[in-house]
Amino acid sequence: MSTATRLTRYDATRAQLGEALSGEPRYRVDQLWKGLYEQLAEPADLTALPKALRTRIDTEMPAALTTVVEKVSDDGDTIKYLFELEGGSRIETVLMLYPDRVTACVSSQAGCAMGCGFCATGQAGFTRQLTTGEIVEQVVRAARKAKELDRRLANVVFMGMGEPLANEAAVWGSIERINGDIGLGARHLTVSTVGLVPGIRKLAEWPMQVNLAVSLHAANDELRNEMIPINRRYPLAMLMDACSDYLLAKGRRLSFEWALIADTNDRESDARELASLCRGLPLAAHVNIIPLNPTPGYLTRGTTLKRVHEFRDRLEELGVNATVRRNRGTDIDAACGQLAAGQPVQPITLGRRSSISDSQP
Ligand code: SAH
Ligand code: SF4
Repeated sequence: MSTATRLTRYDATRAQLGEALSGEPRYRVDQLWKGLYEQLAEPADLTALPKALRTRIDTEMPAALTTVVEKVSDDGDTIKYLFELEGGSRIETVLMLYPDRVTACVSSQAGCAMGCGFCATGQAGFTRQLTTGEIVEQVVRAARKAKELDRRLANVVFMGMGEPLANEAAVWGSIERINGDIGLGARHLTVSTVGLVPGIRKLAEWPMQVNLAVSLHAANDELRNEMIPINRRYPLAMLMDACSDYLLAKGRRLSFEWALIADTNDRESDARELASLCRGLPLAAHVNIIPLNPTPGYLTRGTTLKRVHEFRDRLEELGVNATVRRNRGTDIDAACGQLAAGQPVQPITLGRRSSISDSQP
C-alpha cells in the first residue's frame, strides 16, 4: 500500500520515465536513468540534458524526501537525516562512516506497528508504509553524501525505522534497484526483522543473496512475548523453524541481534537458552550483541559495558560466535532503536504494553 500521491523520481520505472520524457529523443531516458542511479545526481545538475527538460523533470517527478535536519555526531563519523515525505510523515536515515566501510541504515516504514517497548520507533507507533522510491532515495542521499566526503557507500542495512518484512513489496523493489541500478552487491545488503515468519520464508525463496538479521533479544517465549509482542503470533519454535529452513535453503550465515538489558536478558540462563537455540540450527548463527540504547519511553537500563563483554565471553564459551556492536551516534539519537523522527513518545515500562492486535499490516 502506498499513500504517496505523486510518482517520485525514484519510484518511476524506466518505462515511466520514458513516458514522462515523451517527445524527447530515446537516449534521454538512458541519460536520465544513469544520472539518477550512477551519478546520484539531482536532475537540475544533469548538464548533459537541456535546461528546459531538467526543469520539467524537477517539477513532474519530484524528489520524495525533503531534508528537515542533517545532524553530525561529535566525532563526525555518524550523520543522521530527518526527512519529510509527501503527506508530512517523517523518517530518519543514518550514514555511518567506519574506517574501512560506509554503511547506510535506512527506514522501511514511517514508524512501526510492532510495538517493541524498548524501541523508540515502536513507542511512537505506525504512520505509513514507505514506497520503493522513498527507500531508494534514502540510499541515494546517503551515497551522495559519502561521495561528497570522498568515501563510497558499500553497505545498506534495513535497521532504521519500521519492520521491512511488514512492507515486503516496497522493500524487495528497493533492493532490486539498490543492487541492479545503484550497484551495491546483494551480500552488502542486510534485512533486519523482528521475526515475521512468513517474510523469512519468502526471503528464503528469493533468488537474491541478501543477509538476514533476526532481532531475537530473548530465547524463551515468556520473556520474548513481553519484549516483542509479535512473538505471540510467531513464537520461538515457529521462528527457529523458519530460520532453519532459511539456512538450509540459502546456505548462508544468519545473525541474531541481542540488545542487552540489565537483569532482563543478560543473565546466565539467557546465555544458556540462546546457546541452545543456536545449537539447534543446521548452520552456526552469529550473535550481534548491542548494549541497549536509552530511549525516552523505556525505563529499564542497558547492561554495563563490563557485563556486555562478560555475556559475549560466556556465549563464546558455550560455542556461539558473538560480537559486541559499538554504539554509534548516541549523541545525535542515531543509534539502533533511537529513531523516532522527533515524535514524542509516552513513557511505558516493560510488561505494561498492550498486546499487538490482528489489524497490524
Ligand atoms: N524492525 C526491524 C528493523 C529495525 S530495528 C527489527 O526489529 O529488526 C533495528 C534493530 O535495532 C533491531 O535489532 C532492534 O531490535 C534494535 N533496537 C531497537 N531498539 C533498540 C534499543 N533501544 N537499543 C538497542 N537496539 C535496539
Ligand atoms: Fe519495530 Fe524493529 Fe522497533 Fe520492534 S525493534 S518496534 S520491529 S522497528
